[in-house]
Amino acid sequence: MIRYWRTVAVSLAAVLSVLPAGIVRGEPAVNTEKPGAASCARPDFRVVLDVGHTAKSPGAKSARGADEFDFNLRLARQIDQALLEAGFARTVLMVTDGRAVRSLYARVARANELSPNLLLSIHHDAVPDRFLEKWDYNGKPETFSDRFKGHSIFVSDENLDPKDSLLFGSMLGQQLKARGLQYTPHYTESLMGRWRHTLLDADAGVYRYDTLFVLKKTQMPAVLLEAGSIVNRDEELALASPERQQLISAAVVDAVDSFCVAQSHKPALQIAQRSKARHVLSAHSHQRARGRAGNAAPLTAVSQSNLDIH
Ligand SMILES: [Zn+2]
Repeated sequence: MIRYWRTVAVSLAAVLSVLPAGIVRGEPAVNTEKPGAASCARPDFRVVLDVGHTAKSPGAKSARGADEFDFNLRLARQIDQALLEAGFARTVLMVTDGRAVRSLYARVARANELSPNLLLSIHHDAVPDRFLEKWDYNGKPETFSDRFKGHSIFVSDENLDPKDSLLFGSMLGQQLKARGLQYTPHYTESLMGRWRHTLLDADAGVYRYDTLFVLKKTQMPAVLLEAGSIVNRDEELALASPERQQLISAAVVDAVDSFCVAQSHKPALQIAQRSKARHVLSAHSHQRARGRAGNAAPLTAVSQSNLDIH
């Protein structure tokens, strides 16, 4: 779910001390690339699957009181497995620790270090609080909203590579659509207020959301998937089912493959220029990090306004 923090004070030194947990695999043992699968070198293509939120800051609550983080982790694991089985052996499942804001910095730093070809952040949606209704589930008071259902895909124009972010977002949307899954159009409605967004691809369900931290601060094509609404009572059950998770995983694998093929057709110069830009940005980040580490003794509080987090 999308959260909004108007003013957040964080300690940079504390942020830098957070080490995100992640799973990085060694080199691939087997190339399972299908014959004729164009020129996508699956064993060399790295996808980072970012599990949205953390165990400590678990995101939205489902209609039945479950944490969004658990939904994100379960689906991301399923997608990770599907990508591995398809031969994308360098896939990284990125699970981050800690509280919300500092975990954001940690996940972005970790993703940039891994220098993947693509980042996909996995989330499950909720609604603004004013749409929530009350009910009892298993004798406990919970909240729900059956008003909206469906997935949605977000990209940021402030990402280093907005064009390819949109390209992958559209490919993913098309694959979900091909499997009978419908995106939710409600983010275009005025009732969404500050959560209203422009549809960049009305066929595939890709919205523009420039200020999402994990999308704008990562230095590779990056897309955020809200896999569906867990505050919708029917959709929560569907999203909890292995069948739905497998369907979404298969859509991601096919979209990643199409994107990998499209990337491999790019002129070498274009790719080299982008990696150079990525490298320069990364070097700057390291310099800044060293500078901060050197001055770490007095903890410095930094105010950040209008920070959209996930
Ligand atoms: Zn979320």
